[in-house]
Amino acid sequence: MQVDYAIIGAGPTGLGAARRLAELGAANFVVLEKNAHPGGLAASFKDPQGYTWDIGGHVVFSHYEYFDKMLAELLGADQLKHERRAFIRARGAWVPYPFQNNIRHLPRPARWECVSGLLPGKRPEKTPQNFHEWIHCVFGEGIGNVFLWPYNFKVWAIPPEQMSASWVGERVSIVGLEGVLKNIILELDEVGWGPNNAFTFPSHGGTGEIFRRMAAPLSGHIRYGDGVASIDAAKKTLTTASGETITFGALLNTGPLDLLITEQLAQAPDDCVEAAGLLKHNGVFVAGVGVGARPLHEGKRDKRCWMYFPEDDCPFYRVTNFHNYAPANVPGSDTAKAAFLCETSFSGHKPEDLSTLMERTVEGLGNVDLLPEAARAKIESRFELSVDYGYPVPCLERDLALRTVQPWLEGREIYSRGRFGGWKYEVGNMDHSVMQGVEWAERMVQKQPEKTYTWK
Ligand SMILES: Cc1cc2nc3c(=O)[nH]c(=O)nc-3n(C[C@H](O)[C@H](O)[C@H](O)COP(=O)(O)OP(=O)(O)OC[C@H]3O[C@@H](n4cnc5c(N)ncnc54)[C@H](O)[C@@H]3O)c2cc1C
Repeated sequence: MQVDYAIIGAGPTGLGAARRLAELGAANFVVLEKNAHPGGLAASFKDPQGYTWDIGGHVVFSHYEYFDKMLAELLGADQLKHERRAFIRARGAWVPYPFQNNIRHLPRPARWECVSGLLPGKRPEKTPQNFHEWIHCVFGEGIGNVFLWPYNFKVWAIPPEQMSASWVGERVSIVGLEGVLKNIILELDEVGWGPNNAFTFPSHGGTGEIFRRMAAPLSGHIRYGDGVASIDAAKKTLTTASGETITFGALLNTGPLDLLITEQLAQAPDDCVEAAGLLKHNGVFVAGVGVGARPLHEGKRDKRCWMYFPEDDCPFYRVTNFHNYAPANVPGSDTAKAAFLCETSFSGHKPEDLSTLMERTVEGLGNVDLLPEAARAKIESRFELSVDYGYPVPCLERDLALRTVQPWLEGREIYSRGRFGGWKYEVGNMDHSVMQGVEWAERMVQKQPEKTYTWK
């Protein structure tokens, strides 16, 4: 088989590329997906008890007109709009997100700990060299200790000292001493910050419904269940696990970049192999706990969307009240049922025994007051899934590694884009990923420069 374009992966990036190629009339392409379904990390699954689960709570918030139009076309009226209600569990309190804007909700000693770290002369006055130092310089020791340091280790599974702060941009709310004091003294809450303060969610089928619908009209181009095993960059051929060889004009990879270099490419030079070895990632264990009786929060219906957990009384860093995203996420859209979607990260720096993680998750839900002892008997579903590639870590060596690997690939008309293909967390959400694929297709067909993904 000979194609103009071969695409590895039918996740958001691969589907974005395929959709745009088809729109531009470039019909000679194939998408090779090793799974039996589309969506990649943004896929969703229905368990035998009838609960729907994402691979960790996904919310759609977009930065792009193309993506918004596409979503409207794919989902139409089948989407629900939500206002973010997110909280941080710290020192026994629930602090509205963003934590640093709302520390008045902490017990008094912790409030003082946070404020005192922000007082004049308490924060280092230097250019931070890594993410740990950045937190210290911007937020001080108190907010660092109570929330940001332990939380970031829990989610990234890499010490913040080994991460750069260059990705922070719109991901972390910056507030100074004056703002913190004002909110404490005037008892103000500030919860509207950030790009995901409103989001949409498919009314059924979970996040994966978006990508099932995106893939459907492209089905003639997509081959499921046959991964790409090896690539010969010189001959411009790839070989699938089932043994078929395909010749391509250009190749888009959307699987992990390190594996592309070290496992699939036959002739990657030593400096690329070395650079690929510098890239860091974590894995994420997803535990879906379906409960037949929905617990109350402070005596009322729990309207919260998701909660962050920096402390060690539970293994997870985040729990999503997935029942609040769409009634159809629980069997029979039964408003009496609850779906807790819990995420725990792991890595060599933070090993986890996955065989006991579900049990520890259920225990943790009890410890943080989400699942009282009596409700545990009502658990009717325990869904487990773990992905080895969860978050592409913006480690200190990342940009140098990308600057080594990407030009070598592009010199051979191999392009690597998407969450792990491009390895840039700051453009690693679903909207970014779809647009990386779309812009790659426009570059191939229309010679337009890409905007979302850059490595130079
Ligand atoms: C825990 C978690 C929470 C998240 N929350 C959000 C959120 O709230 N909002 C948001 O916008 N985004 C969120 N994301 C990010 C979102 O999942 C990604 O943006 C998106 O899935 C990336 O798409 P992709 O196509 O680049 O990569 P992937 O989704 O990883 O897809 C790559 C595809 O390539 C396939 N593949 C890999 N190697 C091969 C091979 N050799 N041969 C054939 N096929 C191959 C894989 O099977 C996969 O289907 C979250 C991600 C995680 C892990």
